[in-house]
Amino acid sequence: MKKYLQKITVGALILCFLCTGCASKSRVHHSMDTAMGTIINQTIYVSGGMGTAETISGEILSCIETLEKEQLSWRLESSLLYQVNASAGSSEAFPLGSLLGEVLEQCKKVYAASDGAFDFSIGRVARLWNIDEWAAVNGDGESISFVPPTDAQLAEALAFVGGDRSVVEGEYVRLPKGMQLDLGAVGKGIALDEIKKLLEQREEVTGAVISVGGSILTYGSKPEGGTWNVGIVNPHDTAQSLGTLRLTGQWCISTSGDYERFIEVDGIRYHHILDPRTGHPADSGIRSVTILTKDGLLSDALSTACFVLGVEEGLALAEQFQAQALLVDTQGDIHMTTGMEQYFYLSNSEK
Ligand code: ADP
Ligand code: MG
Repeated sequence: MKKYLQKITVGALILCFLCTGCASKSRVHHSMDTAMGTIINQTIYVSGGMGTAETISGEILSCIETLEKEQLSWRLESSLLYQVNASAGSSEAFPLGSLLGEVLEQCKKVYAASDGAFDFSIGRVARLWNIDEWAAVNGDGESISFVPPTDAQLAEALAFVGGDRSVVEGEYVRLPKGMQLDLGAVGKGIALDEIKKLLEQREEVTGAVISVGGSILTYGSKPEGGTWNVGIVNPHDTAQSLGTLRLTGQWCISTSGDYERFIEVDGIRYHHILDPRTGHPADSGIRSVTILTKDGLLSDALSTACFVLGVEEGLALAEQFQAQALLVDTQGDIHMTTGMEQYFYLSNSEK
């Protein structure tokens, strides 16, 4: 693993993708919507007419909404995850179905490899922080009278956290009493995997870039050729781009950054990526992590895990999964896996 350090005053997430020189206008469709509590941006190239592209874009949106409503939401009673959580403590194993069965199996792998830095059973602690309410107040904790949980409350909740104590057997799961699963760290990545399957069944689609919040799927190619250019946000100045990933074909790119969801109260800034060892927002010297892999769930899980682990252990974890990683630390230094260097172009630099 080679460490790439470059002193800069800026840092990272992904949101903009630059479709430079879109060729035939009649064959590309752009849309922006909200789903899964985040912004969905779609650019779809088709060999058929505009109607085809619009239909496919609508199918992708409903795919994301259905996934949230029927499978992944911890909040909606209609979802399978809600029912799994309600079954905690039961002696009967709960049937998951193939999607959630595979998801939990993958989650357990990343949990084990990251030594619990990514913990899908963090629900009880995440609920204490009330993270979902933060977006509405744009960081201003005073306006919702946000009170951070006490150490005693966190310790009590942490007693119900520990992914290794959940039992996943094929398509069945058993949770110990009080445990609550939270797939917030992987939901957007899972959505990318489902979207990819959908695109593969639509042969009219020649290329696409779909972003679900900070997770992005690139697919196929542009009519005029060239790379998909995925911008990485500078976490030290989120209005600025840190650089660009230039990619061809199918990739999943996920970024976890401390600027995505945060709240300030009494001059203290809290963010939404929690260290399962302490229950507090992770404090590993990292501002953002971008992961590049072929698999959406993995890219999303690893971005969270690497954020919690910090530079050295984070890079090692990514390498273990043959994923590429780019981490920006609190000093503004960039650290990359060796394989990432061929894709990343720093803003305002020649390469
Ligand atoms: P984002 O949702 O902005 O993409 P992440 O993918 O890093 O960011 O996921 C953060 C969400 O995942 C939190 O809102 C919380 O619900 C949950 N979470 C926080 N810390 C962890 C962790 N260490 N392991 C697993 N899930 C976590
Ligand atoms: Mg994540």
